[in-house]
Amino acid sequence: MEVSKPRVVVVGSCMIDLVSYAPRLPRAGETLTGRKFQQGFGGKGANQCVAAARLGAETALIARLGDDSFGHEYLKALNKEGVQTGYVSITKEMHTGMAQIVVAECGENQIVIVPGANRNLCVEDVQLAKETIEAAKVLLFQLETPVEATLAALKLAKGKGKRIVNAAPAVLKDTALFTESDIFCINETEAEELLKIPVKSIEDGYKAAEKFRDLGCSAIVITLGSQGAILSTQEDPTPYHIPVKKVQPVDTTGAGDAFLGAMAYYMAYHPQLSLKEIVHRACSVATISVQSPGTQSSFPYRNELPDALL
Ligand code: ADP
Repeated sequence: MEVSKPRVVVVGSCMIDLVSYAPRLPRAGETLTGRKFQQGFGGKGANQCVAAARLGAETALIARLGDDSFGHEYLKALNKEGVQTGYVSITKEMHTGMAQIVVAECGENQIVIVPGANRNLCVEDVQLAKETIEAAKVLLFQLETPVEATLAALKLAKGKGKRIVNAAPAVLKDTALFTESDIFCINETEAEELLKIPVKSIEDGYKAAEKFRDLGCSAIVITLGSQGAILSTQEDPTPYHIPVKKVQPVDTTGAGDAFLGAMAYYMAYHPQLSLKEIVHRACSVATISVQSPGTQSSFPYRNELPDALL
């Protein structure tokens, strides 16, 4: 069977989210009884890929899962979402990436991430997917997998597809990520962490965008939660604010991943749109996602979008 060429390619992580809801966070050494438990498919790479696939993008994921029941279940789930998984490999003698999360009633949380098989994603994995990477219209990267693999894929795609680097979590292992990306995308807390300046208001966002441009980013997008996003590009350097509709959020986890998946979809399928319009539409998709619970479970499907966002 002829497999169609994916326009959106993601090089990134897969994690299983194990979420326990407890009256409060446990103290060191304490055993607490929780009220509820939920398991979900997560990891920023897979999340962004699924978000784009749900909007109708042909997608491929380059990732590693562990050789355990979680890994095999995750592979099935990705296939069900229509993601091409030819380059998602099961790693022998490794466990799938795990995010153990405790959510207290007050909304505070505690998270321990164990990357497991994600740590094995390597340059050879990227080389195997060379043709797919070179043919992609848009490529998405995050910082939950080894930077060597990311840099190798960024190099292969240079001058071909648009390369979006989402610097999350904000542990930048190589400053080449600033200059090797076509669009650098980050949220407010990550921007604060990298720049060591407050990024709370829209004004702060303007300043942060200018700083990222000074660091060599050719285009920068900073998402600001309910305040929308800031965009600045080489061609149009004056930072521009994109507001979002006021809504009552139910669960904002994964909003950034919904945004990035949507941005990749619009860039790959509506290349005639301006970047401002793409960011505006991606913000609207993310705003839809915050009105439903969960991470991947909150990402909208194409048939749930209003006509203006198709
Ligand atoms: P992250 O999930 O990485 O923390 P943000 O919180 O910045 O990312 O959210 C990404 C996007 O999701 C925002 O730019 C916005 O479009 C949307 N969003 C997030 N929180 C809200 C909210 N409370 N109301 C409306 N939209 C939101």
